[in-house]
Amino acid sequence: MKFGGTSVGTPQRMNQVLQLITADDKPKIVVLSALSGTTNALVNISNAIGEGYRGEAAKKIEELEVYYRKFVDTLVSTEEGRNKANAIVSEHFEFLNIILKISFSEALNKDILAQGELLSTKLFSVFLEEINVDHVLLPALEFMSIDAQGEPQIGSIKVKLSQLLQHYPDTKLFVTQGYICRNARGEVDNLKRGGSDYTASLIAAALNAEVCEIWTDISGLHNNDPRIVDKTVAVEHLSFDEAAELAYFGAKILHPACIWPARSYNIPVKLLNTMEPEAAGTTIDEAALSVGVKAVAAKDGIIAIKIKSSRMLLAYGFLRRVFEVFEKYKTPIDMITTSEVAVSVTIDDSTNLQHIIKELEPLGTVETDTEQTIISIVGNEIAESRNILKKLFNSLSEVPVRMVSYGGSPHNISLLIASGFKKTALQSINAGVFGL
Ligand code: ASP
Ligand code: MG
Repeated sequence: MKFGGTSVGTPQRMNQVLQLITADDKPKIVVLSALSGTTNALVNISNAIGEGYRGEAAKKIEELEVYYRKFVDTLVSTEEGRNKANAIVSEHFEFLNIILKISFSEALNKDILAQGELLSTKLFSVFLEEINVDHVLLPALEFMSIDAQGEPQIGSIKVKLSQLLQHYPDTKLFVTQGYICRNARGEVDNLKRGGSDYTASLIAAALNAEVCEIWTDISGLHNNDPRIVDKTVAVEHLSFDEAAELAYFGAKILHPACIWPARSYNIPVKLLNTMEPEAAGTTIDEAALSVGVKAVAAKDGIIAIKIKSSRMLLAYGFLRRVFEVFEKYKTPIDMITTSEVAVSVTIDDSTNLQHIIKELEPLGTVETDTEQTIISIVGNEIAESRNILKKLFNSLSEVPVRMVSYGGSPHNISLLIASGFKKTALQSINAGVFGL
């Protein structure tokens, strides 16, 4: 069971988590994120230190500490509990204050970012202890690891975690940190922003769990973005394929990488709501129950690059030469469309854009469009659903479409539009395709 930042963000919410994890006595591992806002605050602190604004960083550390002291005051009520919790807060803030004084490095940045999950789990453990809930706090840094490429090592996670668990044959409840891990050099590292979901699915896969529950503050994945579109409904079931496409193409509810461990080990994933535990939420598993459109997601910050070459395109090897440039700069391509004389691709990582453009120029005329959005309509065998393209394009009659990708996967139709049209597009699709 994984609980996100808002699910543990206040002492009251931690109480709700307590109810959920003690509702039955099945053995379980509880994965917690940092309290909501903490990782962002730590990123700011780290950036300030990295840029040499140590005074500013010191002020931010102090503010965060005040916040944690208040949190502790409401979370625990006995003197013993408070002393313990305050000692934990002191330990982690002393650490941050020491970092402030030494020279900054990438490894230290990762150490700073790890404090959020260490704090949330340790404080939650004190809270459980105070009310005599039998449990063990498992240090994620002792079993969660990534290789030199940044990929989790499921084999070794499995071995290390099983060995750890063997020490507690009678324990049924374990608590551990999401997000944090050790890298190939043995340093503290992380699974990237939002990585606690990934932790949960890796653990579920490693232990062959019955289910991997991701508890958030919304009742499952919705057919459309509820922050933008008025009327949305929760999707009850998704196949792993559908969920992977949606998570990747912008449905913020789930970390995109977290589907593969669950799929490889065939562990159903449930998206549930801490605030409304009885709601069905979304179940993601192997079964592809129904054919047709399930949801639409949007991904912003996309750059479209067009390479036009009347002489070269039909020559074999042209696409390889284009792709090699992206490979060289470790920049993944999301969408591709081709015409007789040009190829358009999209990327979401602009770090090496200038180098990429420079190296593409010998191949043809290069044009880029920034501030683009990918709109992905996802559904099992969506290509077979009747009139889907007609409905889609009718609903988008007011929206200029820059690229269309259809047929790459039977479960996805993607469009590229200028980000300014996103709201109109999502709303029109909600009406025209979902009938909402
Ligand atoms: N605390 C981390 C973040 O905010 C990981 C997570 O919440 O999943 O990105
Ligand atoms: Mg998250």
